[in-house]
Amino acid sequence: MQMNALREEIATVLPEMIALRHHIHQHPELAFEEHATSDLVAERLTSWGYEVHRGLGGTGVVGRLRNGTGSKSIGIRADMDALPIVEATGLPYASQHAGKMHACGHDGHTATLLAAARHIAMTRRFNGTLNLIFQPAEEGAGGAKRMVDEGLFERFPCDAIFALHNSPAMPVGTLAFRSGAALASADSVVIQIQGKGGHAAMPHYACDPIVAGASIVMALQSIVARNVDPLASAVVTVGVFQAGVANNVIPPSARLELSVRALNREVRTLLRQRIHDIVAAQAQSLGVSAKVDYQDGYPVLVNTSEETAFAARVGTELLGSDKVQIDPPAVMGSEDFAFMLEHRPGCYLFLGNGDGEGSCMVHNPGYDFNDAAMETGAAYWALLAERYLS
Ligand SMILES: [Zn+2]
Ligand SMILES: [Zn+2]
Repeated sequence: MQMNALREEIATVLPEMIALRHHIHQHPELAFEEHATSDLVAERLTSWGYEVHRGLGGTGVVGRLRNGTGSKSIGIRADMDALPIVEATGLPYASQHAGKMHACGHDGHTATLLAAARHIAMTRRFNGTLNLIFQPAEEGAGGAKRMVDEGLFERFPCDAIFALHNSPAMPVGTLAFRSGAALASADSVVIQIQGKGGHAAMPHYACDPIVAGASIVMALQSIVARNVDPLASAVVTVGVFQAGVANNVIPPSARLELSVRALNREVRTLLRQRIHDIVAAQAQSLGVSAKVDYQDGYPVLVNTSEETAFAARVGTELLGSDKVQIDPPAVMGSEDFAFMLEHRPGCYLFLGNGDGEGSCMVHNPGYDFNDAAMETGAAYWALLAERYLS
C-alpha cells in the first residue's frame, strides 16, 4: 500500500466528514447528554455495515467490524462531549446551543474516527476485529471509566487500544508519541475552614478563617518545593479561595479548592498525605477547624512501550520521521482514556492541529478543530488498524 494512494482514498470521504464535523460543532452536547451526536454516530456506522452497540456509559457507542478469520482485535476511541463555554469563534458553523461549545476539538475526534470507519468499511484490508469506541463525557465526568465499569472490554475484547487528541501546539500533518507516563493524574480537593466571625476592629474576639486560609495556601506551596523529588513532577494549584463580604467583617468561614496533579502513583500518594497533614497542622496552630474533601479524579495516563513503539512506527510509515515526534515531554493535563489504559495496553497520541498565527489553546472560546488535520488523523487510524490486524 503506497501512502499516497491511501491518502487519495481518504480524500474521497473527507468532504462529507468535514461537513459532518461542522454539524457536530454546531450542535454541541455536554457530558452524558450526547444523544444527538451518539444517534448520528450510530446511524452512520450502521449504514456502513458495522455492528452497532449502544448504551454503554449511557450515550456511548461501539461499532464492531469483523473481517477474515484473524483472532486479533483492536480498539480505537474517540470522545464526543463538548464544554460549558460560550463560543466566540464567529464561524458560520458556530454553536447553536447557548453556553455549550466544542472547544476541545472532540467534534474533530468523532468525525476523524468516522472518516476512518467509512474508509475501512469500504476497503476492508484487515484480518480480525475492529472496535470503534465513541465515548461520552471525557471532560471531567469520566465517561471512559463508566464504559469500562459497565463491561466495555468484556463485551468487546481488545488486544490493544488507541486514542488521539488534537494538539494546537503542533503543526498540521504531524503526530507525537510518548511512551510511559504521558499525562498526569488530576485530583480535586475542597478545604472548608471554619473559624469564628466577628468585627474587623476586634479580631481578638474572632477566629479569622482568612488568615488561616492564606497560611494554608502558602504552606501548601512547600509540598512541591520541599517534599516532591526535584526530578519528579507535581502540581498543587489553589484555584478557588472564597471568603468574606465586607472589609469590616471577619467572616466565619473560608473555602479553598485545589487541583492536584502527578505523573506517578508514589507522588500522587505523597501529595494526598502532605495536603492532609499540612491542613490539619495549620488549622490547629491557628485555632480554626478545617475539613479536607479529597476526590480522586483521572489516573496517570501510561502508554505501554510495545504498543507506543508500534503506533509510532505506523506514524512514521504514513508521514516520514520528520513529521513524527518521539517521546516529547509529558503534559500535566489529564485524560480519562487513562482508565481504559489501566485495563488494556495501548497508546494515546497527539495530532497536530496547527500552531500558526491566530491559533489558541484548547478550552479557549476561540478554539476550533482544524479540518486540515482530519486527513492525517483518518489516514493514520486506517493504517493503524490495517497494520495491527494484518
Ligand atoms: Zn478538554
Ligand atoms: Zn479534549
